[in-house]
Amino acid sequence: MTRTPPILPGSTLGVLGGGQLGRMFALAAYQMGYKVAAYTPDQNSPVSQICNDVVCAPYDDIESLQQFGRRVSVVTIEFENIPADALQSLEAVTLVRPSAGVLHVAQNRLREKTFLSKKGFPIAPYFAVKTSDELHKALTALGTPAVLKTAGFGYDGKGQRLIGTVEEAAAALASFEGQEAVVEKFVEFDKEISVIGARSNSGDFVAYGPIENEHQNHILNLSLAPARINWTLAEEAIDITRSIMDALEVVGLLCVEFFVTAEEELLVNEIAPRPHNSGHYSMEACPTSQFEQQVRAITGLPLGTTETERGSAMINLLGDIWADGEPDWASAVSLPDVHLHLYGKTEARPGRKMGHLTVCARWADEAVERAKSALDLLVRPKG
Ligand code: AMP
Repeated sequence: MTRTPPILPGSTLGVLGGGQLGRMFALAAYQMGYKVAAYTPDQNSPVSQICNDVVCAPYDDIESLQQFGRRVSVVTIEFENIPADALQSLEAVTLVRPSAGVLHVAQNRLREKTFLSKKGFPIAPYFAVKTSDELHKALTALGTPAVLKTAGFGYDGKGQRLIGTVEEAAAALASFEGQEAVVEKFVEFDKEISVIGARSNSGDFVAYGPIENEHQNHILNLSLAPARINWTLAEEAIDITRSIMDALEVVGLLCVEFFVTAEEELLVNEIAPRPHNSGHYSMEACPTSQFEQQVRAITGLPLGTTETERGSAMINLLGDIWADGEPDWASAVSLPDVHLHLYGKTEARPGRKMGHLTVCARWADEAVERAKSALDLLVRPKG
């Protein structure tokens, strides 16, 4: 593969999306001497509080997008529910990493599953369904329980229904109001893990993880690294991630989420071509954080090392912990090696990701215990 000269510090990097992942990408880019321009439809986003060059316009405003694209050396994303057409129009004027083609596959569950199964990657059995008749046929083949998901615009369990009985199926499908959907076998998993890969334009690859993830109400609650699985499985998960990135020719980051079954089999659940919530541990635990790695991968700088000798844990801070007033930050960070990250969101809604804590320790289990203690201290009744 050819090596093109890197985009060097001093250049302007563009990011589509205004959320916390964009904010942490921008902080890493600034640290390395880049300028950052962000494009987001949201006023007062986590990115706009730290980035003085923000275009606030809709993603389907092609003229604004292309004007933005002409000003930057490369565009990346922090959020995959951006119309792939928008990225395509940007590709006409600048470098886009990952490409519109990668986003097109990863932002739609049906396209994603079709790609993964065609290439022979392991996934749970699934069917595309539009009508209740198709859904009934699929459930006859898959059995219940099963999981019905909208094909597009899903994250954190949004657009997803657990189907316990065939009778529940029609109502669940009707609630999707005609959106394209997939139904998949319910996986009795033992663990959920993820790997975040970084791939350069010349095909170099490094990986974070596997990371072990625990969800509550479909939202990531806790991650720990390294995942408590055997080496063979860990290497297999990293190999699959690398093969998916090679097959899609991703330049940038890609997170692959897996189920680990009781039989120690890996099934890919979904892929996201961007930094991932489960990779936040890397900010304190690894020599190169996932955000610095994103900068390196998209600019063509050499990829940084990801190895760590330490165990770590990450716990998400959802809006729920503001229910009884401002959390007790000082107490939480009084514990050794507990690090606070807040995203600057002003409205603490239940289920909204407001920030996270990372904890490093000798072992992952020790880090998890300390992360839970820090969370308890945050929400301990006052007085
Ligand atoms: P997703 O939005 O597809 O990542 O799903 C969010 C979470 O729902 C996953 O991390 C799992 O905990 C759960 N989930 C999704 N699909 C399945 C499935 N087929 N079987 C069991 N649990 C699932």
